[in-house]
Amino acid sequence: MSPMLETCLALGKTFPVYDPRTAEVIANVAEGDAEDIDRAVATARKAFDEGPWPKMTPYERSRIMLRAADLIEKNMEELAALETWNNGKPYVQSLKSEVPMVVRLLHYYAGWADKIHGLTVPGDGNYHIQTLHEPIGVAGQIVPWNFPLLLFTWKVAPALTCGNTIVLKSAEQTPLTALYVAKLFHEAGLPPGVLNVVSGYGPTAGAALASHMDVDKLSFTGHCDTGKIVQELAAKSNLKPVTLELGGKSPFIIFDDADVDQAVELAHFALFYNQGQCCCAGSRTYVHERVYDEFVEKAKARAMRRIVGDPFKSGVEQGPQIDPEQFEKVLRYIRSGIESNATLECGGDRLGNRGYFVQPTVFSDVKDDMLIAQDEIFGPVQSILKFKETDDVIRRANKTRFGLAAGVFTKSADTANTMMRALRAGTVWINCYDVFDAAIPFGGYKLSGIGREKGIYSLNAYLQVKAVVQPVKNPAW
Ligand code: NAD
Repeated sequence: MSPMLETCLALGKTFPVYDPRTAEVIANVAEGDAEDIDRAVATARKAFDEGPWPKMTPYERSRIMLRAADLIEKNMEELAALETWNNGKPYVQSLKSEVPMVVRLLHYYAGWADKIHGLTVPGDGNYHIQTLHEPIGVAGQIVPWNFPLLLFTWKVAPALTCGNTIVLKSAEQTPLTALYVAKLFHEAGLPPGVLNVVSGYGPTAGAALASHMDVDKLSFTGHCDTGKIVQELAAKSNLKPVTLELGGKSPFIIFDDADVDQAVELAHFALFYNQGQCCCAGSRTYVHERVYDEFVEKAKARAMRRIVGDPFKSGVEQGPQIDPEQFEKVLRYIRSGIESNATLECGGDRLGNRGYFVQPTVFSDVKDDMLIAQDEIFGPVQSILKFKETDDVIRRANKTRFGLAAGVFTKSADTANTMMRALRAGTVWINCYDVFDAAIPFGGYKLSGIGREKGIYSLNAYLQVKAVVQPVKNPAW
């Protein structure tokens, strides 16, 4: 057994992991709790303080990360199958999009290892002044279930390239691929104790990590309410810096110059991708009144054509929701939409009587103050709202407690330029949606989070800046 995986093993307790297609148990996984987090943090601390990881040459670190990327690529089909089995997302999505993106992220961040350097700073006096960019130490990382392996890599890759050691807690719904990939990192030559994966629940293992006195930095992705809890735990313990990637209620705005067929397809993708379980889902579809009726009719037809079923079957676009809690939550929001007099165009119920499948659902005549237009539903429920004036749609799009992403669909460069500046969101997609790249920073304004992941911006979260000052004529020499 690898020393890294040793820290995954709790004191004999296990918890079940399910296949969301059938609600059947597919594995029992060691359940880590506060005591296991203590052991994992002690292991990561030792690996940080004694090395070799932070003290290796950046080139050596990058070689190991590249080897891990190669192993992931080699095991791509198995990893994609495991992700789909545990999460319910279409296999083709796991195989063609997510696992390749994991590899790409590792390549990207491996490339940064030998390009992280400080500055020479001009001061007022006769001093040599420089900054050293050093790893921050032991990074605590908590991830959700909607993109288990991808979000694991968003966190692990920048932390590793900077020379940190890691304790990562996976989501209790989806612990499998993180364990698999931790093993591959070990095979790639990552030294013992550098990457410690703990499977377990939030209020036990997660809270223990957030409040640990020997964790130097916390990075969290999940629900806003949980984000508030972990930030408080971090503040009340050792005031560790916290980055948060939280929820959203992102507007996707379609202007009257748009090609309606293209707009319908993109808005459909923006909302329904990954069973609607995307933090940046375009979950408020604003449509200009001149194309509104045509859009609604075609959006309904598109949703009714959506192929829902076994995510391993070719052609299937939508699998099950992740678990009974999310499934019930989505159905509650659908009921709330009906009760608040939004027009149910299609869907509105579960699909079949096994697993957690939900019919692709479209509401029109949605008003800004309805719950379905305000809360993150995290399911296959499209809410279509009408607008007339650009100023008005800007005000309405920004009138939300979130600010994760936004989309704009228009043929006018003027409209696109106006909107990209006016929208208060961490990402604005113009005439596209959900375009992700290792180099593009991602994160939220307002309640959607603190800090950015991916790209150069993620590195800052995992580095300390040390200023070093010495006289030019050093009296001690
Ligand atoms: P969640 O907050 O319930 O869980 C996320 C993680 O936090 C899990 O690992 C969970 O075990 C852990 N956790 C739960 N309670 C905890 C506690 N008291 N202390 C410490 N850790 C705790 O969220 P979820 O339902 O798993 O994920 C869905 C949410 O994540 C949505 O709101 C979604 O928008 C958000 N999300 C955001 C991004 C982003 O990049 N902004 C990406 C994906 C998901």
